[in-house]
Amino acid sequence: MLKMGEMVLKGLNRARFEQRLLAVIKKRLAPIGAFTVESMQSAVYVTPEGDVSEGVMDAALAAMRRVFGLAAVTAAYKTLADMDAMLDAALRLDALKNAKTFKAEARRAVKTFPLTSPQICAKLGEMILDKLPHLSVDVHNPDVTVWVEIREGFAYVHPSSLPGAGGLPSGMGGKAALLLSGGIDSPVAGWRMARRGLELTGVHFESYPFTSPQALEKVFTLAGLLAKWHGEFALFAVPFTEIQKRMRAECPEDYFTILMRRSMYRVTGQIAARHGLSAVVTGESLGQVASQTLESMAVTGQACALPVLRPLVGMDKEEIVTLAREIGTFETSILPYEDCCTVFTPRHPKTKPRLEPVLDAERRGTWKELEQQAAQAAERRVFL
Ligand code: ATP
Ligand code: MG
Repeated sequence: MLKMGEMVLKGLNRARFEQRLLAVIKKRLAPIGAFTVESMQSAVYVTPEGDVSEGVMDAALAAMRRVFGLAAVTAAYKTLADMDAMLDAALRLDALKNAKTFKAEARRAVKTFPLTSPQICAKLGEMILDKLPHLSVDVHNPDVTVWVEIREGFAYVHPSSLPGAGGLPSGMGGKAALLLSGGIDSPVAGWRMARRGLELTGVHFESYPFTSPQALEKVFTLAGLLAKWHGEFALFAVPFTEIQKRMRAECPEDYFTILMRRSMYRVTGQIAARHGLSAVVTGESLGQVASQTLESMAVTGQACALPVLRPLVGMDKEEIVTLAREIGTFETSILPYEDCCTVFTPRHPKTKPRLEPVLDAERRGTWKELEQQAAQAAERRVFL
């Protein structure tokens, strides 16, 4: 049983959001098994076709917890609307097996059932206690709540819902490029925007042989982890080394990071134009490093014709790390392989760059002519 999230607040557009959500759900379930998927009011019911093993239901539940647009997710038993059948189902709930205290909650969608909701709770509680005497009832703070929902001719029995991934269904917010490094921040930034319904295409700048093949593998691993939430995720790996070498030969070291960022934006702009992407997402957070001051962001952002979205701009590092752990990217992000920026980082980067000298360096420099080539040479990989 899946509960739709904030999309239920949409007016006339709601049907489009719902259609998209159902399509995503079906796509995610396809590799797991055969299920029917139906929506009713603000819920979606996913029912296995025929008998399934517990492993299949666990896999389906785990997959559904990664679908953006869902507020809550739970696995329910569908039984006859009959006290004995509901008891049987309740006794099968894993959550109840490991609990010390519980309470029962009941809801009736049809009022034809002979008992009222409070009577159902009392009766079911009693029956459970009878079968599992090690449990006790705690109505205020139970380890487990056993829910029964009575419908026309049948009932659902389930534990409390788990939180869903939240946000809006994938793809409803448009398409954007995600500047994906191998660090902690950019995968989290991508996750946050994907959760708002953005369909992302990754762009990674690699500096082989200044960076190792493992550095690129790490980015591919991160792309695969993001795909688990986002759904199919394409990533362009752009060969950036020649551009960086030119810059290093032709311009002052303290402007290096800024020039590199601007170049990344221009190359990304070309990829975006070719693939219909209408914004760029980065993992920048205000004040985190020299290139992420307001002045630096203004000077780098000026090179980008598309809106630059920085979902982490107001977050502390600790908050970002917590989120990285929750979404499962942290352990990969902290692997020690350097990305291109670390290799070319100046000793004294400018924290308050001015635009004029930057434009001046770009007028004198010759790397701009390499940018189109780099965009074209980018290699596309798809992660599922
Ligand atoms: P991250 O943890 O995402 O690497 P960071 O704290 O290391 O971020 P920077 O190195 O200043 O910060 O990078 C800022 C942003 O620029 C990154 O979040 C990412 O969006 C983008 N970026 C940096 N390096 C690359 C790269 N090699 N390829 C693609 N994007 C990059
Ligand atoms: Mg980085």
